[in-house]
Amino acid sequence: MDVWLQPLMLIYAVCVGAVVGSFLNVVIYRVPRGESVVKPRSHCPNCGHLIRWYDNIPVLSWLILRGRCRDCGAPISVRYPVVELVTAILTALIVSRYGLSVAMGEAVVFVWMSIALGLIDLEHQILPDVITYPAVVLGIAGSLAGGLTTPLEAGLGIVVGGGIPIAVIVLYKAVRGIEGMGFGDVKYLAAIGAVLGVMGCLWVLIVAAILGALVGVGLMIAGRGDGRTALPFGTFLAVASIVYLLVPLPWHQLFRF
Ligand SMILES: [Zn+2]
Repeated sequence: MDVWLQPLMLIYAVCVGAVVGSFLNVVIYRVPRGESVVKPRSHCPNCGHLIRWYDNIPVLSWLILRGRCRDCGAPISVRYPVVELVTAILTALIVSRYGLSVAMGEAVVFVWMSIALGLIDLEHQILPDVITYPAVVLGIAGSLAGGLTTPLEAGLGIVVGGGIPIAVIVLYKAVRGIEGMGFGDVKYLAAIGAVLGVMGCLWVLIVAAILGALVGVGLMIAGRGDGRTALPFGTFLAVASIVYLLVPLPWHQLFRF
């Protein structure tokens, strides 16, 4: 790529990522509460004042207002600018890794969806269908358009990605009489299979399980869990999916269908 075009494109990617991150904040707050993401416009949860457009600039407004509402001075969570900043950085990293391509478009949208799913699962222990189903469609459409995987890989990915958690749920229910995973995990893993293919999906599943085990043990050592504490598996799936898309792993070349 042209030496001048590349920095310009990355600056553009950071700006788009920050604006999308701002929208993801709305999604993360409203979707689990069953509210519309377009109406009404954002307002302060404390005093109800509409957020002025110039107080709604990603990251910068929070810094200028020093994390407080302009009208009533109520604190605004640091989570908002953090989500915007992380989304901006991840968007630029994906664009620099994949360049201008269908794969880049597919990867970037999937990362945005994963940020939303990971944070909603962390807070509410749900993975909403309104995000997981479109993610499956994204993987199928991407594979047909020459994106991250082939149509065959995407199809097998859906079957394997959805099949493994269903088997885990059935086994867990039979052995321990409880649900080890939710059906949100089934749909999200099917989407991961559609977007990343069979081997990508298996890698993500293994890494997410290891992350979950490490966090579970960590919580037990810290005296905050007893081994039966429900952990947000979707959050670990989201982290592993984003790592898989960003880091060039030899695993990518192992098996291609
Ligand atoms: Zn206020």
